Amino acid sequence: MSDLYCVFGHPISHSRSPALHAAFAAQTDQALHYEARDPDEAFESAWHAFVEEGGLGANVTVPFKERAYRLADRLTERASRAGAVNTLMVNAQGQALGDTTDGVGLLRDLVRLQARLEGGRILVLGAGGAVRGVLEPLLETAPATVMVANRTASKASALAEAFKDLGPVEGGHFDDATGHFDVIINGTSASLGNELPALPNVTLDETTLAYDMMYAARPTVFMTWAEALGARTSDGLGMLVEQAAASFELWRGAVPETEPVRRAVRQALTATLLD
Ligand code: NDP
Repeated sequence: MSDLYCVFGHPISHSRSPALHAAFAAQTDQALHYEARDPDEAFESAWHAFVEEGGLGANVTVPFKERAYRLADRLTERASRAGAVNTLMVNAQGQALGDTTDGVGLLRDLVRLQARLEGGRILVLGAGGAVRGVLEPLLETAPATVMVANRTASKASALAEAFKDLGPVEGGHFDDATGHFDVIINGTSASLGNELPALPNVTLDETTLAYDMMYAARPTVFMTWAEALGARTSDGLGMLVEQAAASFELWRGAVPETEPVRRAVRQALTATLLD
């Protein structure tokens, strides 16, 4: 029988995670079954039922990452600081260990894209769960500065306070972000509603990488804006694939090759435009 894994989210029907993990399993010759589960409101009881069934690990996505953090019996240091869990695994004693791979996923994709991180000025938009998970690995790259800008400025300031022992980080409103940035990461959910955070005092050019954590078949409104100003752009598909691969490594101890999988998912996504 195959080992059982799943992703919990609500909604979850459009999740790419089952396809990603099926591809990693085929590539590394692992017998596992990975499915998408929508527990509606009842995340905790769905997790316990999953463990009863013999489930070995799960990914957790919107809106359950903070509940997974509270549910976990033990946390890795990075999940503890992020206050969010996207990867759960069951240990030999039946306890749930919580980790977050969102940050390492983003970082691996930024490295692939040759973003200027070390010594760079990095602007992070948003102060929600996704941003909490990525600040630690970003600050570990020794940037010149990380500015966290959010619609609700107090949340960005609180995040900057929580991470300031790791490196130069400040928080504020979108208006407080000024000057040229080497990397701008959109970690708001504004693109979902086709909206764009207004950045009146920010300049970007062809040396800037503008990265939207959201991914879609077409460039997001944030990418279109940045491209018009000459910046290089990317959506968050690579982050999605890399965070999935990092979870897979934790569960299985096998390292999948992400490049062919990212290409295949991109192709499938683009094909939806022809449907
Ligand atoms: P949260 O709901 O936790 O946070 C949402 C953030 O977006 C808040 O900072 C909120 O500001 C801001 N926001 C929402 N609407 C607007 C708007 N219209 N204008 C400006 N700011 C806005 O979401 P997450 O952090 O979990 O997710 C954020 C994005 O990242 C999503 O698009 C998600 O799909 C993506 N993501 C991608 C991943 C990947 O692997 N590619 C992984 C994880 C997330 P405020 O505080 O003022 O409400």
